Amino acid sequence: MLPSFAFLGVHGEFTVVPSSGLFPDIRSATIVTMTAVATARILIVEDESTLADAMRYGLEREGFRCSVANDGSVALSRFESDRPDLVLLDLMLPGLPGEDVCRAIRRSGSTPIIIVSAKTSEVDRVLGLELGADDYITKPFSSRELVARVRTVLRRAGLVSEGARPSVLEAGPVRLDIEKHEARVNGSPVSLPPKEFMLLECLMRRAGKLCTREALIGDVWGPDYFGDTRTLDVHVKRLRTKIEDDPRKPRYLRTIRGLGYKFEP
Ligand code: CA
Repeated sequence: MLPSFAFLGVHGEFTVVPSSGLFPDIRSATIVTMTAVATARILIVEDESTLADAMRYGLEREGFRCSVANDGSVALSRFESDRPDLVLLDLMLPGLPGEDVCRAIRRSGSTPIIIVSAKTSEVDRVLGLELGADDYITKPFSSRELVARVRTVLRRAGLVSEGARPSVLEAGPVRLDIEKHEARVNGSPVSLPPKEFMLLECLMRRAGKLCTREALIGDVWGPDYFGDTRTLDVHVKRLRTKIEDDPRKPRYLRTIRGLGYKFEP
């Protein structure tokens, strides 16, 4: 399932972002690339930790491997040590301005760079591209747009192949066949209603990592969900009765107190 929530670090509201019109090919390209996945390594350079976390979450859920630098100088040393396949670069950064980071990365090779910035004027966009960036996303933007742009840029750079997204997830005793909508626990078929299935899929795509309550609710129930957040807990409880040996002492579907849940493989 594609993420339907939008995120925004600055004001906290959900936002659906209109097409910029600057990269008309990207919008049409997203349609064919939505099912592709990459294990490409992405360096997220963003000093606003809420936004960095949201970007990381959205990308990791789609199979990308991410690291985060919250400062311009840190970004450059991280770039040297990690050698990422793509860099998402904020412009207004402490340490070293994003423009300088962009130039330095560009000098060292052809690693794709997508500028992610609140600077919205056409001049800034053009400047960003003149710095050698491959694309430009203005804040706020949706998780969906971010993933689509990353894939498009990686694909252009020849770093992503189509159709590689795993449609079968296996972790712990659980095997999920996404396309067939089949779940098995210890080899036996288990019936899961759609929301439970989606929830388990979200958790398993990030097996071993925290899934925040907000992110899970956004993924499974959508950005417009303003209902009781205990709905999430009820679904987790039901899932536990289906996958855990002892649902009262969950081994796989763990609660991370005050934050969310984690599927421990
Ligand atoms: Ca910033």
